[in-house]
Amino acid sequence: MWWKEPVTKLKGVGPKKAADLLAVDVRTIGDLLEYFPRQEAYLDYSQLKKIRELATDGSSQIFKAEIYSVKEAYSPKVRNYTNVTVRDETGYATLFMFGASRYKAKKLFPGSTVLITGKVKPGRTTCTITDAFIQPLPDDGGEGGLGIIPTYPLSGALTQNNLRKWIKTALEMAEKELPESLPAKIVRNMSLPDRLSALKDIHFPSSWENLRKARKRFIFEELFMLQWGLLYYRRLHQDARSGIKHGVDGELLKKIIKALPFELTPQQKKAFQEISLDMQDVKPMHRILQGDVGSGKTVISALALAKAVENGYQSCIMAPTEILAAQHYETLVQYLEPFGIRIGLLVGGMRAKAKRKLLENMELGLVDVVIGTHALLEDNVKFAKLSLVVTDEQHRFGVEQRAKLMNKSENTPDNLIMTATPIPRTLALTVYGDLDVSLMKGRPPGRKSVQTLCYTEERRKDVYAGLVRQVAQGRQAYVVCPLIEQSDNLEARSAENVYEELKATYLKNIPVALLHGRMKGAEKEAIMSAFASGEIKVLVSTTVIEVGVNVPNATLMVIENAERFGLAQLHQLRGRVGRGDLQSYCVLMAGTDAPESLARLQVLHDSEDGFYLAEEDLRLRGSGQLFGLRQHGLPDLKVADIIRDTETVVKARVMAQELLAEDPEQKQTEELLNLQFGDRFRMIFNV
Ligand code: ADP
Ligand code: MG
Repeated sequence: MWWKEPVTKLKGVGPKKAADLLAVDVRTIGDLLEYFPRQEAYLDYSQLKKIRELATDGSSQIFKAEIYSVKEAYSPKVRNYTNVTVRDETGYATLFMFGASRYKAKKLFPGSTVLITGKVKPGRTTCTITDAFIQPLPDDGGEGGLGIIPTYPLSGALTQNNLRKWIKTALEMAEKELPESLPAKIVRNMSLPDRLSALKDIHFPSSWENLRKARKRFIFEELFMLQWGLLYYRRLHQDARSGIKHGVDGELLKKIIKALPFELTPQQKKAFQEISLDMQDVKPMHRILQGDVGSGKTVISALALAKAVENGYQSCIMAPTEILAAQHYETLVQYLEPFGIRIGLLVGGMRAKAKRKLLENMELGLVDVVIGTHALLEDNVKFAKLSLVVTDEQHRFGVEQRAKLMNKSENTPDNLIMTATPIPRTLALTVYGDLDVSLMKGRPPGRKSVQTLCYTEERRKDVYAGLVRQVAQGRQAYVVCPLIEQSDNLEARSAENVYEELKATYLKNIPVALLHGRMKGAEKEAIMSAFASGEIKVLVSTTVIEVGVNVPNATLMVIENAERFGLAQLHQLRGRVGRGDLQSYCVLMAGTDAPESLARLQVLHDSEDGFYLAEEDLRLRGSGQLFGLRQHGLPDLKVADIIRDTETVVKARVMAQELLAEDPEQKQTEELLNLQFGDRFRMIFNV
């Protein structure tokens, strides 16, 4: 199978070029065929220019000219190269040819007319062309037969010429043998071009219309395969064991809800009802609870955990950090322990003796609810009768890790995921396939909105004065920096520097602490709890405090070099304040006055809606690169864009569902999925 062969099998691809290809994830000849050209950068022969019309801005352009001279040249830096001078009736241009393309250049003879694509820059007397691609005019003398020329994203020393040549060779191989990657029925129903035509047309389009069709096919293919794989493997995975049926809410739950220090909001009530109904079904729950920061998810998870206990089972909740686990523990103790529910905290840094005792109790069923970190995943962690697994902030965990926890029970436990990173609906569909979603928008009543300010460097003094003022009023504050320590090549403020600076100046007599991810767990823990108890007034940190931390007395969040963070992340950070009933502030310090950076921060100033910000973040970060997929072990999307292609996502999902429903045997499924994804899905779903 030629498509599985390494790229080095191609003529002209040595170890160096192979390494450059590897940097863009191209390993095999098959990968190369799926290394698609940049979307808006095809070169169009209908836009042939005269030499004098060429824009000398380094962009890739195309023109027709006559060869004037071909000369060997030498410079100490690039050694031997070839100078090709070409002309038309408007002027001259010089082409610099290096390496292998020199041999081609030597065969050119003066007087012949050629088509040239390359990057155009101003030269001393003529304009100069680098990365030139020279093509003879077709026999009929016209340009019509040449098609449209692709432009590829480059890496390392790769050139457009390299990629065009290698991909042409690969397409010739495909001409002889190429498996279809979509089920025949789908290709037919959707009137898509077959794979070979589509590959040919996306690289070297025979017309603009065919390029459009080819792109449409690959967009659909990408989204369809993802949905199909997710649905198929999830089903394989979950059919193995049956789920657990919980009873309707009983006395215990009623008492717990009644004793809460507040009334549940309608959004919270609805979310819990959805969860409750899922738990009462024998089909295992797969639900994600999405709620903006501060929307009150924790109490909902507490109720779900209690429901498992009310039914005689155990439940657990996994948090991404020890700080968060400890915080959940405190909350759950407060809500649940008064009703006789036994609660345990399992973290990595525990004393061996305490840990042994807890593990023993879990296995004997003497603990009802366990809060833990990754420590929960260890093999020696066993439950007597686990019926509910809650994961908080699950984007920090791989799907494999979650599967590991789910396997700690004889039957499939119910699965609830809580996330404060609002995931746009389209992304939720893409990444999670058939996950059900409970949504809590807005915040509980009585919570003030956070006032967001955006300043550049010249206001630093005022910001620090504000910091001192908040502390003088008995409040607390965070200062978040993008780096731990100063680095030479990055112009951003580091937590260490800011900490030293503040301690020596504005915060001389004020307890301030430094917190970052490189500290030991116990050390972080100690600082966090000193901050939570109000002993420490100002916390200078990196983004380790991003998720979940709840200190209602903190009213000011200063973010240094805010331009370096994504909108969603800034929103998360902002969510650390405004957690009590005091007016809170978030100051975004911009380390630049570039208009696009400031415009981006303005979006944050204007909105406190995490869902809107997440969509906006995706849009601003450009298509294709979506967060989430990688963390889930899935490939990033190459041509599809889940914001732009929402309708296709939905269509692909419906078609994948239909296909699976029609033919549960799915003989062909694994074969096709394997071709596309290798064993990625098997690894994700543990099957
Ligand atoms: P998150 O969704 O970010 O995890 P939390 O569960 O930490 O939010 O809740 C944020 C704060 O709101 C907590 O201090 C919590 O006690 C409070 N809270 C939660 N639900 C309500 C409610 N219905 N009414 C008033 N306050 C609430
Ligand atoms: Mg939370």
